[in-house]
Amino acid sequence: MSNKQASFYQSVDRNFEKAAAFTKHPKGLLEQIKVCNAVYQMNFPVKIGSTYQVIEAYRVQHSHHRLPTKGGIRFSHLVNSEEVKALATLMTYKCALVDVPFGGAKGGVRISPREYTPEQLEKITRRYTVELVRKNFIGPGVDVPAPDYGTGAREMAWILDTYQQLRNGELDSAACVTGKPVAQNGINGRTEATGRGVFYGLREFFNYPEDCKKVGMKPGIEGKTMVIQGLGNVGYYTGAISIEEGGVKVIGVSELEGTIYSEEGIDIVKLGKYRKETGSILNFPGTKTLANRDDWVSMECDILVPAALESQINKSNAKKVKAKIIAEAANGPVTADAELILLAKGIVIIPDMYLNAGGVTVSYFEWLKNLSHVRYGRIEKRFDQNSYVNIVSAVEKLTGKSIGMKEKNFLTRGADEVDLVRSGLEETMVEAYRQIRETYKRKKNVTDLRTAAFITAINKVASDYLALGVFP
Ligand code: GLU
Repeated sequence: MSNKQASFYQSVDRNFEKAAAFTKHPKGLLEQIKVCNAVYQMNFPVKIGSTYQVIEAYRVQHSHHRLPTKGGIRFSHLVNSEEVKALATLMTYKCALVDVPFGGAKGGVRISPREYTPEQLEKITRRYTVELVRKNFIGPGVDVPAPDYGTGAREMAWILDTYQQLRNGELDSAACVTGKPVAQNGINGRTEATGRGVFYGLREFFNYPEDCKKVGMKPGIEGKTMVIQGLGNVGYYTGAISIEEGGVKVIGVSELEGTIYSEEGIDIVKLGKYRKETGSILNFPGTKTLANRDDWVSMECDILVPAALESQINKSNAKKVKAKIIAEAANGPVTADAELILLAKGIVIIPDMYLNAGGVTVSYFEWLKNLSHVRYGRIEKRFDQNSYVNIVSAVEKLTGKSIGMKEKNFLTRGADEVDLVRSGLEETMVEAYRQIRETYKRKKNVTDLRTAAFITAINKVASDYLALGVFP
């Protein structure tokens, strides 16, 4: 191993090649799957204060084997062409793995959002959208952006509004972007979706005694300890839901300002409020601050959750990892070099393309909702509710007993949109893990979950290309 660190894109490439070697697809087909189909780099001027700034931005469509292409938009001063390409590539495999019928894409705007006012950010977002429309890089059947690092529902609302101004009267225009505010054609449950998906994925891992045994752990997620790097949208909901619904103990949290620790466990919801008020996680009651911010990597715990940016666990710090499982909530948090070190140490990595697929899964539900022009649950909720009431009443009549109002209300409830979204997400995460395990068991020399996930995804994309007749 040389001293040079593999870049994010190189890491994705190496992981692809490792997995591709286990498949029997022709070389040309594998090459077509691997490359980015369209890379659009733009530079546009935006007036900030009294001066013009030239903003560098990208949209990359990795694969058109299914349309539209899909993936978030990142606002960060680290954005560059290679990064967006790597992220777009991962989207293709992510969508294939969880059976979301999209090709992969990703966008990036090279700005540090904290340095701009909301009005300036709106100007930049709207101008970026105009560029996408101009080049036909956005549309319900073409390419559908969503939030990513540094963006959220607010930016998606600006994108939608700009798109609709330019495409007045387009019937399905609401489906041109996902992750929108619920009041503006969004869907209940999208904000928490990635974190909730991470929780479902982890819970599924712990449901298999055989998988837990590999890392010397007892089955069941309850009581497991967790350290989270990054308290953004993904880290926050992963922690909050894992505590609330899984009985996990979060013992460490790391953010830009430092890393905190508590053996008793940290209440993530309270920590989130505290950070909003004080601007920092440091000195949160009941916690200690570690000497170095980077010490999150060496904290002893069952599950380490990198939930921020790529390449956070790399050749320089991988040796220090003491966790038994790395749960990749972020995209590409472990470099290919670090992976070799971690696997040699017997650490299990639950890969990003599976574990953080909850976001795009619920984006898919939002897109379907927009295309069908009806809220989930609207048609069947009352019918279901009335049927359940009839069943309960019949049981009461037959037994001559009443079950009481509280139970009755619980048993006869019809599903709301958020219930259906969660149910669809849970099913998706459970089924995708089953598929990864199946590949893992079937392929003799595959020894890690990332390779198994990659093989599963590559096979699906390959069969789509073959069905299209592109490779006779
Ligand atoms: N940015 C998220 C991801 O990396 C979500 C993408 C989407 O919803 O399209 O998966």
